[in-house]
Amino acid sequence: LEDSSYATKATSKPDVVRVPGGVKGRRKRIVVTGGAGFVGSHLVDRLIERGDSVIVIDNMFTGRKENVLHHLRNPNFELIRHDVVEPILLEVDQIYHLACPASPVHYKYNPVKTIISFLKSLPSVHKTNVMGTLNMLGLAKRINARFLLTSTSEVYGDPLQHPQVETYWGNVNPIGVRSCYDEGKRVAETLSMDYHRGAGIEVRIARIFNTYGPRMSIDDGRVVSNFVAQALRKEPMTVYGDGKQTRSFQFVSDLVEGLMRLMEGDHVGPFNLGNPGEFTMLELAQVVQETIDKNAKIEFRPNTEDDPHKRKPDISKAKELLGWQPTVSLREGLPRMVSDFRQRLFGDSKGSLD
Ligand code: NAD
Ligand code: UDP
Ligand code: UDP
Repeated sequence: LEDSSYATKATSKPDVVRVPGGVKGRRKRIVVTGGAGFVGSHLVDRLIERGDSVIVIDNMFTGRKENVLHHLRNPNFELIRHDVVEPILLEVDQIYHLACPASPVHYKYNPVKTIISFLKSLPSVHKTNVMGTLNMLGLAKRINARFLLTSTSEVYGDPLQHPQVETYWGNVNPIGVRSCYDEGKRVAETLSMDYHRGAGIEVRIARIFNTYGPRMSIDDGRVVSNFVAQALRKEPMTVYGDGKQTRSFQFVSDLVEGLMRLMEGDHVGPFNLGNPGEFTMLELAQVVQETIDKNAKIEFRPNTEDDPHKRKPDISKAKELLGWQPTVSLREGLPRMVSDFRQRLFGDSKGSLD
């Protein structure tokens, strides 16, 4: 790990980082911000497998070094501990900008870091979405790199249109507890489009719907990781509210394929990337019971504020223009995540607490 000084430096002067393998060459040089996180690390695997040279920028807020440990000795891979809120100088062809806390538990804990703040002492979601995206767009502009933003289905808020089409402008509460994330991503989309129109940057925007799979943080509070960890630990699955709210769950390999097609394709987007299979939280709990333990219990808890009632992507645009659609159903994908969680929780592939 390059525990560089950039991480702590609150300066506006960017540092220079040398790219392994030289500046010119046939393999693509790619930055993945947030590449030590759940989605980012799977994307890195695919890019390295394709023969690209990859630099991960991650401040390790929710990322884990274990997620990219298998690449650390690869000369085509570099991990830089750096907060995207601070400027950085690199020479690359493409930037996948994923850095952002994605779990409601994390971004609510630190809302200012989620959107923007000039309080340098606070890590915040605002800061990451605004300053972080601005810096990565500034980088893209200087070196003429293609820039992909991982936005979110949360830009649709508590949607009044169902399923959600990219042309829908959404129903977001600007002053609620989720706003730091929703509005932060909306600002990130706005910045991306302004750099595209104003500075001619080649941008790509993905609106990602709920994604699950191996390497998700076990205790990050998202529903699939919660239910799977709870059922494996023989704890009751915590269903918030009446459990009738819906989400559409996408397996991570489908998302990564969609992100790469979007980056390599000719269309700016935004594109919904998600699996249209829609489940209530009670139905999800049932699938987890079928997969892990048919006797797993359910416990009802009060729901969180501003929880969207339903969510399901219309993916016609991605199908038509990217030739992409998900291939892994929830019932196929969940067991793959369960083996990974078993391994991490109990150190074996079939373990349990008893
Ligand atoms: P994650 O938390 O596992 O990964 C995010 C990564 O970004 C982490 O490694 C974290 O340490 C890093 N990071 C956060 N703030 C940073 C900063 N200021 N500087 C540098 N690194 C920083 O989350 P994920 O699920 O892999 O999400 C990746 C991206 O996809 C995020 O942009 C998220 O908003 C988006 N997304 C994810 C989902 C989903 O269901 N997983 C849904 C919609 C959108
Ligand atoms: N930036 C960066 N790396 C670069 C180029 C720019 O981190 O290689 C940052 C820069 O510090 C600034 C942001 O990106 O904060 C926006 O840059 P831009 O050139 O668009 O705007 P300006 O610097 O003119 O405000
Ligand atoms: N949820 C739940 N139990 C949990 C965690 C979440 O019932 O232990 C619900 C939550 O209220 C929401 C849905 O699951 O309706 C999805 O929540 P998550 O935090 O995974 O994602 P997001 O709300 O961002 O879509």
